[in-house]
Amino acid sequence: MSNGYFQIKSPVNEPVKEYLPGSPEKAALKAELERQLATPVEVPIIIGGKEFKTEKKAKIVCPHDHQKVLGEYYIAGEKELLMAIEASEAAKAEWESMPWEHRATIFLKAADLLTKKYRAKLLASCMLGQSKNVYQAEIDVICELADFLRFNTYYVQEIYKQQPNNSDGVWNRVEYRALDGFVAAITPFNFTAIGGNLATSPAMAGNTVLWKPSSTAILSNYYVMQILVEAGLPAGVINFVPCRGVDFGKHVINHPKMAGFHFTGSTAVFNEIWRQVGQNIDQYITYPRLVGETGGKDFIFAHESADVEALACAIVLGAFEYQGQKCSAASRAYIPESLWGELKVRLEAEISKIKMGNVCDFTNLMNAVIDQNSFNNIKSYLEYARESKEAEIIIGGGCDDRIGYFVEPTVILAKSPTFKTMVEEIFGPVITIYVYPNDQLDETLKLCDTATIYGLTGSVFAQDRAAVIKIAKALDHAAGNFYINDKPTGAVVGQQPFGGSRASGTNDKAGSAINLYRWMSQRSIKETLLPRTVLNYPYMSEK
Ligand code: NAD
Repeated sequence: MSNGYFQIKSPVNEPVKEYLPGSPEKAALKAELERQLATPVEVPIIIGGKEFKTEKKAKIVCPHDHQKVLGEYYIAGEKELLMAIEASEAAKAEWESMPWEHRATIFLKAADLLTKKYRAKLLASCMLGQSKNVYQAEIDVICELADFLRFNTYYVQEIYKQQPNNSDGVWNRVEYRALDGFVAAITPFNFTAIGGNLATSPAMAGNTVLWKPSSTAILSNYYVMQILVEAGLPAGVINFVPCRGVDFGKHVINHPKMAGFHFTGSTAVFNEIWRQVGQNIDQYITYPRLVGETGGKDFIFAHESADVEALACAIVLGAFEYQGQKCSAASRAYIPESLWGELKVRLEAEISKIKMGNVCDFTNLMNAVIDQNSFNNIKSYLEYARESKEAEIIIGGGCDDRIGYFVEPTVILAKSPTFKTMVEEIFGPVITIYVYPNDQLDETLKLCDTATIYGLTGSVFAQDRAAVIKIAKALDHAAGNFYINDKPTGAVVGQQPFGGSRASGTNDKAGSAINLYRWMSQRSIKETLLPRTVLNYPYMSEK
């Protein structure tokens, strides 16, 4: 019994380590990279706290060295998915009624295990398995994931505190129940933190979860699952089920007890699931909550008053870090004619300095794109641009998949503002630039707002305050995360809640209280202290 109100103190963001030459963290990481490269692992399916292996398995490879096998993972089928639903149901009653401070402690402990005991292990798995340089891995699987775990527990506490007013003789209360069923989480390859967040935020609110990780982020996602288990997560609360998307759709999404769907990935897949849910709507025991953060075609909009040096830096880092495989990556830019000459020279100079290659060579800023499909897709866009009269590849454009899936940082100059690479998500290190006449600011803002289906992130670069105000207003709904004189990537939990609308998602802001509300179903309770015993109302009396 808990005789006390316990308080999680307001969290602070996990500091980003620098991995400087000679530092203990760099030495530990290098040793761990070697160890993981030399020690292939087997990743099981985890259901109800037990490990399962099936007949079907697939290899885990390094995208920057695709013949290098890091291990194998087992693939769940119908039988395992149905078992996972049963396990989640079996775990639910005890989990949702566990005193909150104990539920919270598990996630807080997981954050500490991640940042202290297992930092090097998680970093190395994310670097090798998803081809991230150390900085990109550090801000993802360590800092952002720890932040999600610590901030979300704090937000749940703050939500639980919110209670309605009372009136004379009445005590009103609100219980924040878990959803009536299980939550299905489908997660993307590009951020391990998102994988961890999508599975844990519903669990914090008392739900049980089926987690389908991406096939190209299995290793780091598995280690996150192991940390949660070590932190004390009871069996069946999160079930780790790598499987084919179609199988998850058929057996999990369509299940009558699917009460919530937590997704990050492409717009097409989210639309497909939404459609499936719609077709099935009569089958569910409750209306499923659908939360999806999806694609983007994120912009940098420069005004003639922009600082060109800062603008060049934002374009290079915003477009090319993690090979442009961030939903927030800058992939289109609108540049006024008067700045273009100087900007082009700066871009050529900066991009020529970028080194690309294996993640174990710390001098590389860029590494490989995630897999052959992605490589082929990006390459097809580059070929399209190369053959078009409406555009010109002015920097980069080369691709080489002999050793790893390498795509050069590429700048395309588009003559038309609606050129294919200006409006479609490519998800690679490619930015398309449209140079607009200085006197066509209004028309160009309109184009920026309406040319794509997305509304995720965007930046304005301007030193003129009136221009900042005008552009921010004109692009009101063009981005859910809007930056002024900064690149459109790098949102930090607790500082810039993340998400967009239009075809970019439901904008339920990962890493904020808004997201957590989606995994709760309120029960309002009115307790009357002295119940009424007289049926008649006073107005019924005539005297
Ligand atoms: P994806 O849509 O290809 O895959 C996401 C997940 O869905 C994976 O686990 C995949 O296996 C699964 N999946 C694929 N087809 C499925 C199906 N038919 N049914 C059920 N599940 C299915 O996306 P990705 O390549 O992993 O990630 C890149 C995409 O994610 C980009 O579009 C990017 O913009 C988006 N993204 C968005 C955000 C955001 O916050 N808005 C963040 C990260 C990534």
